[in-house]
Amino acid sequence: METATTCEELAAWNKAYLWHPFTQMKDYVKGEPLIIERGEGILLYDVRGRAYYDGFSSVWLNVHGHNVPELNEAVASQLAKVAHSTLLGMANVPAIELAAKLVRVAPKRLTKVFYSDAGATGVEIALKMAFQYWHNRGVGRKTKFITMNQAYHGDTLGAVSVGAIPLYHDVFRPLLFSSYVIPYPYAYRTSGGASAAMEATLSALRELLESRADEIAALLVEPVVQGASGIIVMPQGCLREIDALCRKHDVLLIADEVATGFGRTGAMFACDLEGVSPDLMVVGKGLTGGYLPLAATLATDEIYAAFYADYSEQKTFFHGHSYTGNPLGCAVALASLRLLEERKMIHTVNAKAAFAAKKLAPLADWPHVGEIRQQGLMIGIELVRDKKSREPYAWTERIGVRVCMRARELGMLTRPLGNVVVLIPPLASTEAELDAMTDILAAAIYDVTEEGWGA
Ligand code: PMP
Repeated sequence: METATTCEELAAWNKAYLWHPFTQMKDYVKGEPLIIERGEGILLYDVRGRAYYDGFSSVWLNVHGHNVPELNEAVASQLAKVAHSTLLGMANVPAIELAAKLVRVAPKRLTKVFYSDAGATGVEIALKMAFQYWHNRGVGRKTKFITMNQAYHGDTLGAVSVGAIPLYHDVFRPLLFSSYVIPYPYAYRTSGGASAAMEATLSALRELLESRADEIAALLVEPVVQGASGIIVMPQGCLREIDALCRKHDVLLIADEVATGFGRTGAMFACDLEGVSPDLMVVGKGLTGGYLPLAATLATDEIYAAFYADYSEQKTFFHGHSYTGNPLGCAVALASLRLLEERKMIHTVNAKAAFAAKKLAPLADWPHVGEIRQQGLMIGIELVRDKKSREPYAWTERIGVRVCMRARELGMLTRPLGNVVVLIPPLASTEAELDAMTDILAAAIYDVTEEGWGA
């Protein structure tokens, strides 16, 4: 008994044996599970043959669509050589080639690549590198981190320690190290708007650094777009100012580009939008085009140099995972980056983003659409109970969940972030596909919030 013979049997086994991430299983087992069988382009097909647009890029990572011949070929040809060998004290061919490629496309100060297998592990590595960097340099007092309100950096305990979303993180607080938290500039919910929000962030950071920089190892930021908090876009210039303040006070800047990297925001990296070159940068998700679990933490020469010493000095970075630098993942990442360049994808993202923005613009006048936020092909629509007062829907109304369930009925998959509904399509989506997806999103919002219209 290893293969289910019917859709019903699969559904029963799903409910009996699988425990899903970020999912209340008591709700899940009540419904008919969505079970994906295959993908083609930006469509996913379930076991009953129903097609859905992948409106959230399978949790923000798909770049070129599904079942892409060039990417399939990259995996297959690497598979015919070797599926895995370790990077502990030895190398493999695609891991070397991908590292060279990443250094070429990354912000200029980043020259070394350390692999892992998820965004969260990439973040753990950045935190540990930053911490040990100061230790190795004999500056043992710099041990603390700065994070931003509502930040999300993954689900392992180090990443949760620098997380600041109460619903996800508070329960684990007794297990975590404490971090300084400064406000993230959330213009829509700051009286005075973007400039006031940016000033609140920068003045809090300035004050903290002026009094405590000598105990702070690094600041960790989701550059330009804070994702899981609700696709919140920073005011222009804010990241550059954060970078300048960190530099002035000798605090490392860690850019978490897990969600924003590889063209998603309309530039190769969100840091590029502001001309910022961080000390450490974490990439994951779109690195492999959305094919295989691979992440990387990029570091500067200066950081690398602090670990480069005689073995007896005990400055080695003692960290690694069994699948670090997996050759299949590295081979498909190389192929994905090649396609990104050959197809001039980043250039096309801006045109596609403009198309989607134009399509969604009329929704801004709708009575329950508070704000439409967008950077490249990362779009979040914040729904509100009352447009004028910006009163949010109560979380118990599950407005985001209901809109996304309606979108699914209409043929598009996405997941909400509280009251924010996201559209994060694969970068390869055509205008016709974006047209269809924005139509479905609008219809789903209309259908679910309509009862309040004119009230
Ligand atoms: N950092 C950011 C900014 C993210 O958005 C995410 C995932 N959504 C992560 C880290 C964690 O990545 P992973 O799920 O691959 O561990």
